[in-house]
Amino acid sequence: MKIGITALALFASIALGFSQKATEFHSNSWQQEVNFKIQVRLNDENQTLSAFEEIEYINKSPKTLDTIYMHLWPNAYRDSRSALAKQQYNSGKKNLYYGDMKDRGSIDSLDFKVNGVKVQWKEYQGNPDIGYFVLPSSLLPGAKVTITTPFSVKIPSGEISRLGHIDQSYQITQWYPKPAVYDANGWNMMPYLNQGEFYSEYGSFDVSITVPQNYVVAATGDLQDQSELDFLDSLVAATKINIPKFLQTKQGGKATTDFPASSKLWKTIHFKQSHVHDFAWFADKRFAVLKGAIKLPHSASTVTSWAMFVPHNTLTWQNAIEYINDGTYYYSLWNGDYPYHNVTAIDGTISAGGGMEYPNVTVIGNASSAEELEVVIVHEVGHNWFYGILGSNERVHGWMDEGINTLNEMRFVETKYPNNKRLSDMVLNGKFHLNDLDHHDMGDVMYRMLAAFGKDQAIETHSADFSSINYGAIMYQKTGLVFYYLKDYLGAELFDQCMQNYFNAWKFKHPQPQDLQRVFEETTGKKLDWFFHDLIQTTDHIDYKISKVKFNKFGKGAGVVQVKNMGKVDGPIEVNVINKDKSMNSYWVEPGQTATSISSKKDAVDYVMIDANRDIPELNRSNNYYYPNIPFFMRKQEPLALEFFSGDNEGGKNNIFWMPIIAGNSNDHTMLGVAVHNFGLGPRPTQYLIAPMYSFGRKMVSGIAEVSHTFYPENFFRSSKLGVSAKSFSTNGLTDNPRGAYFVGISPYLLLEFGKKKNNPSITRTLLIKTIARHDQWIDNSSNLILNQVGAMLSYSYLKSKADYKYSNETRLESMQHFKGNDNMLRISSATQFEFKYLRNKMDRWISVRAYIGYNLFAKSSSWIMPDKYMMSLSGAAGTQDNYLENYYFDRYNTAGMQRDDNMGGFRSTYNLLSNSWMASVNATMQLPIKPDFFVAFADFGLRPNSNSNNPVTSFVNTGLGIKISSFVGIYFPLWRSWNMSNMYANYGKEIRLTLKFNPAGKPLKLSALMK
Ligand SMILES: [Zn+2]
Repeated sequence: MKIGITALALFASIALGFSQKATEFHSNSWQQEVNFKIQVRLNDENQTLSAFEEIEYINKSPKTLDTIYMHLWPNAYRDSRSALAKQQYNSGKKNLYYGDMKDRGSIDSLDFKVNGVKVQWKEYQGNPDIGYFVLPSSLLPGAKVTITTPFSVKIPSGEISRLGHIDQSYQITQWYPKPAVYDANGWNMMPYLNQGEFYSEYGSFDVSITVPQNYVVAATGDLQDQSELDFLDSLVAATKINIPKFLQTKQGGKATTDFPASSKLWKTIHFKQSHVHDFAWFADKRFAVLKGAIKLPHSASTVTSWAMFVPHNTLTWQNAIEYINDGTYYYSLWNGDYPYHNVTAIDGTISAGGGMEYPNVTVIGNASSAEELEVVIVHEVGHNWFYGILGSNERVHGWMDEGINTLNEMRFVETKYPNNKRLSDMVLNGKFHLNDLDHHDMGDVMYRMLAAFGKDQAIETHSADFSSINYGAIMYQKTGLVFYYLKDYLGAELFDQCMQNYFNAWKFKHPQPQDLQRVFEETTGKKLDWFFHDLIQTTDHIDYKISKVKFNKFGKGAGVVQVKNMGKVDGPIEVNVINKDKSMNSYWVEPGQTATSISSKKDAVDYVMIDANRDIPELNRSNNYYYPNIPFFMRKQEPLALEFFSGDNEGGKNNIFWMPIIAGNSNDHTMLGVAVHNFGLGPRPTQYLIAPMYSFGRKMVSGIAEVSHTFYPENFFRSSKLGVSAKSFSTNGLTDNPRGAYFVGISPYLLLEFGKKKNNPSITRTLLIKTIARHDQWIDNSSNLILNQVGAMLSYSYLKSKADYKYSNETRLESMQHFKGNDNMLRISSATQFEFKYLRNKMDRWISVRAYIGYNLFAKSSSWIMPDKYMMSLSGAAGTQDNYLENYYFDRYNTAGMQRDDNMGGFRSTYNLLSNSWMASVNATMQLPIKPDFFVAFADFGLRPNSNSNNPVTSFVNTGLGIKISSFVGIYFPLWRSWNMSNMYANYGKEIRLTLKFNPAGKPLKLSALMK
């Protein structure tokens, strides 16, 4: 399968939650043989298939079998009980879970007979798409049985997953009853999933397909009927003539081609194929057909290639034969010759990614350009090797097909298009300094971004346990990257020898990871645990550095480069010497070694660098340089490069990006300045953003700055970051001394995110330790107030996010100390939020309930800035609740301001409700069951102490309606509140409250947030 990668996906955030189990997998020295005969008829008026199947099951295992497990995968589409429906629901796709009956699918009319004896099948452990039956008599090793059954399939909507129809275009995949694989690890029964592929027994197929005569059918195997071959050839001839005409019609996107009426006459066509483990077919009356041939590189035998597409996609598909042929040729060249007679790609409307592979035939989803179509076709055709011929268990070791296939895809693009800029084309069209990113960099940037934030999982992870972004970024892309690194180290020739030995040893079989490792180690004579263990099975990072370069003064130009392994992967390190004449020498430091000698003279060397071509997926590349001919303190620094806006943090440059910025608030008025930062594609361990701005209200500089260093996370922390942030803005009204009122705060912090990286990152647990030193002053003709304070806080947050509910808690311990006045406080508070769906159908609606309690352990305060006070609600001046300068305000201290905060008591009202000892509140928000979904009703309930000893606690209630766009933006209209909060209708306009959070999590600035 091919997953579409968009620029957005590069920065997308994470969802889902499962856990991973470590399992030993046994090598397969034997395998079962399963041969199929199927007759099927397509009923295109009611979207069903009527079929009869005969399976010859040969027990080649050393065990006696009493039970057969059968995949009945069309039942995955039957209702909300299936693993498919649940997986899609959890990832936010609900068209099956809540789907209409007409869109759902199923398999029925099953009547299994074994050697003619009827057997009763049962559902396996609540999976409607897995069945089993007990054999009438035991199946001994070496013996065989014949299993027969009629079946009919209700074809689901093609918008759900892989099996389906869009109108009268048919994708008949995972469609027939099929025994699960029985191997050295036992039965491998698995429910059908979208995220997670398959595992099937090898055998032969003999399939007869009956359709109305004007359907064009593409399928696994060799077409047996001359009349049908003649029909296809006539379409090939017609297509060649018609292409210019098709190109005159509206192409791509929303263009359509009408379905002709189905012929009243029927035809039955036959396909046969051996040495395959699946059979799929596709039928469409609109198809144009192209035909070609490939001469294979090793055997020189010929394969017939077919491309079938709808006329409105002619623009992208007209050269599809070239893509199929080139893919088949290069995969054969590198891995071993294609062993079948036909290779076909068809244009289908598929919902499970950009394309999907089946033996001999692949289905391709909508491609936006010929360039994209070529990569998808090559990827899917490539699965004939990594899935089709080498039949690994895709569900459990998805990297063995998708990842190795991605390596071949990367290699194909760079071989055919050595100067490609595929990633640049996707990100801002390669503008600014994003102009030299190729196909390989897509994976490189994606992997390093996730790893830098501690969101990556190990390559060897069960498909269903991956977060959806890691499924693509790790299983596909990181595997491609590490195999690329291995190929670079071994050299293409030896690497190809390994792949061809693997191909020859395991073709038409079920290899396990250790089988692949054994072939590589035997072929190369090298121990490759650093690869097959460290890089495949763990999230350990690669980080190599140059520690020293010594040149021999008297010898004939020889020198020594010393390297150091700063990461946890003890792999080989490529050292490149870039000479002044631009020539480059390469040396490999073997695993465990720390130096290599080089042959260049010092004077001839421009610089020495680890991995000049960025082929090693290293997290930190800024320690890869050594410039021997410049002053010693600069030798390991990359040269500075000042560049506009942003870029790709390319190697050999210490990018400083800059851009003009404009901002404003009611005291600073307009601010104009420049932001200087190093946030680019490809994370850096040290990040900075400095944004000074001239404030026209303050008549001097306001602004923000932040510098942080991320310690690349290893096993205990997903990420850890140490930083310091600074902020200064005006707090003046229009007074005679514009420079007199402002605040400035400096906050060093440490942010730790806990978690085991093998787990899906749907639960986050973070600890933030933040200290602050701040100076606030108001000095003009009428006032002279200076506040200097220091504070520290400890905040622990827990966040769990599921499809139907979200739970979060933040517990804080906070302190503040004034320099003057000896005011101080220490308090503890806890805010818990529970959100759940109260309406669960196509219109999801949520209720959120927040509970807050805060208690001052100690407090003494005399100043009006009130660091010790709890606030349920304020008449503006929400900034007084912001002791640690976590948010931004239009008017931090102005009582006329509309802006409110979601912290402390969280009331959506203006009435001043304070306490200097404790406070508790509950805030409920309900999305109304109307469209659009941002209308809410809210209710706030609060308690605080009262000085009246007869009535020590007072309660308050506030309710109303609002518009909540997100947790960052909302506007609230209070409508009714308790009598003890005064009449609000005297001046209602002032009662409207506005939530505006510019720093959403109240956390230090994150690169990920900036990139969205
Ligand atoms: Zn794939």
